[in-house]
Amino acid sequence: MHKLRLLTILGAVTLSSLNSFALDSVANADPRGNITINQKTTPATNFVEISPAAYYHNLQEIRKMVGPNVKICAVMKSNAYGHGIDNLIAEALKANVDYIAAVDNNEFRLLSNRIKAAHKKTHLLRIAPVTKAELIEAQRGNWNVEEIAGSLEEAKMLSDTAVELSKKLGRKVIIAIHVNVETGMGRMGFRDVNEIKQAITLPNLKLVGIMTHFAKDYEDPPIDYTATRAQLDTFESVVKELNLDKSVIQHVANSGAAAKFPWARKDMVRVGSLTYGEDLDDRQDPHHVLQPVMPSFKSTVAIIERNVPPHSPINYDAMQYTRSDKPSTTATLRIGYYNGFPQYAFQESAVVLIRGQKFPVIGKTSMNMLVIDITDENQQNPVKLGDEVVLVGKQGTQQITWDEFAARNKMGIVEQVLLIGNQSPHVIIKDK
Ligand SMILES: *Cc1c(COP(=O)(O)O)cnc(C)c1O
Repeated sequence: MHKLRLLTILGAVTLSSLNSFALDSVANADPRGNITINQKTTPATNFVEISPAAYYHNLQEIRKMVGPNVKICAVMKSNAYGHGIDNLIAEALKANVDYIAAVDNNEFRLLSNRIKAAHKKTHLLRIAPVTKAELIEAQRGNWNVEEIAGSLEEAKMLSDTAVELSKKLGRKVIIAIHVNVETGMGRMGFRDVNEIKQAITLPNLKLVGIMTHFAKDYEDPPIDYTATRAQLDTFESVVKELNLDKSVIQHVANSGAAAKFPWARKDMVRVGSLTYGEDLDDRQDPHHVLQPVMPSFKSTVAIIERNVPPHSPINYDAMQYTRSDKPSTTATLRIGYYNGFPQYAFQESAVVLIRGQKFPVIGKTSMNMLVIDITDENQQNPVKLGDEVVLVGKQGTQQITWDEFAARNKMGIVEQVLLIGNQSPHVIIKDK
């Protein structure tokens, strides 16, 4: 039975579940198409909660924010920033986003299938330079992925491949392209207008968009938008010189710019982090209307030890001891740095929530285990085996934010949520 199931999964080309699975799913495929050793089957000891309803809500709020004349490109790369494309694609389609952006072909295979099955016209955009092998696969599969051209050489590769494929497949293959203009990001854009002019006349390419990407993350107040404004000026002068058709979509703004600088919205905004609702400051979401799509990261109490003698060493290298004045009580969780919990969290005053109370992490984090000092537990409401542990999120009146959690790990929120999300089972919650 087990073997049979595994074969079915291999046959189904993996991405159907990405990292998103219900608690009862059998195995999990990673976005590169490998079957992973499955720490992610039921019952999950550690998991993140995902709220598709919150994602839908956020898209509606972003629509209100940008108004009816600005298109929305929902950025779902990196498995929807760790939230699971599979968990959220239905909501993106229900919200009628104009574009969905991703990066690799496993993502596009899934997205394209879902868009076709839903009879939608949602456009797909690859916001990274495509390789020839990926291009051939996407074009053969008719996935309708629009590609970025960021240099003349790359545009030639796109054009040559389209010509070659047209001969091979006996149908005219036209690749829709978005020209990326270098304005200060320095990773994949044309630096010369004349090269753009040459690129867009190459055979079997159709120019549908022109874009650039802002280099500022606008996090440090006071908000200085001089650099962003300068990038936009460069972009606009290039667009002017090209004298493009009105139908060519101009898009430049990521989440930060879309939320903070209405003048940067142009024809379309490319929003990632904003749609997931965890990485927000007051300027991005001044009325606090957006909701976290991954509101919590949870674990379970696996063992409790009462009457631990004073000054007992805890975990690897005895880097911390229990208190000296009296015996301690400890709870061990089946979570470790394998699951993205930092090894030196105890040095950063890490806490977790159990029974609505904050308790400190004690000792170094193991690969799969973490010790919590619960000596100060409420005697009327003692911790029990199997209790829910909140590592991020709310419990009772208490809360641990992604901000706090990420700061301890010396990461930004987006990076932290992505890593935890792509490493943990996903439990879908119905409400926001
Ligand atoms: C990732 C990405 C975005 C989305 O950025 P957010 O800040 O998450 O909104 C937009 N455009 C490009 C080109 C990107 O690579």
